[in-house]
Amino acid sequence: MSTSDNCIFCKIASGAIPSKKVYEDDELFAFHDIKPWAPVHFLIIPKMHIPSMAQVGPEHGSLLGRMMVLAAQLALEQGCNPYPEGGFRIVVNTGTEGGQEVHHLHFHVIGGARPWLKG
Ligand code: 5GP
Ligand code: ZN
Repeated sequence: MSTSDNCIFCKIASGAIPSKKVYEDDELFAFHDIKPWAPVHFLIIPKMHIPSMAQVGPEHGSLLGRMMVLAAQLALEQGCNPYPEGGFRIVVNTGTEGGQEVHHLHFHVIGGARPWLKG
């Protein structure tokens, strides 16, 4: 598994830094955001260190597909209200101008009753 020594999300995925885990399998890890914007706010990351969406290629297609499918499943499990009245938002900040602060690919999954702090 490729990891980056100084990456906080690699350390969360390996358990070296504690987090409130939502889900784990051999490829993916999900955990609650430390500063939630909304009643439901968790992050889905690949265990493999990919810095951002700017580095993904065709070889990552099935991994990204699994992240999307998992986002919808976990959103409901974590308390997002059902579609269409409820729903959720998936956000993938990419690069500095894209608002990315942690350079390990992550999908924000955000939902629950409004108002939210952001978005
Ligand atoms: P970005 O701005 O890169 O899209 O989002 C990074 C997210 O990671 C932020 O929402 C921030 O609150 C969250 N975050 C940063 N450090 C930690 C941490 O140590 N633990 C957890 N659970 N979330 C973190
Ligand atoms: Zn990493």
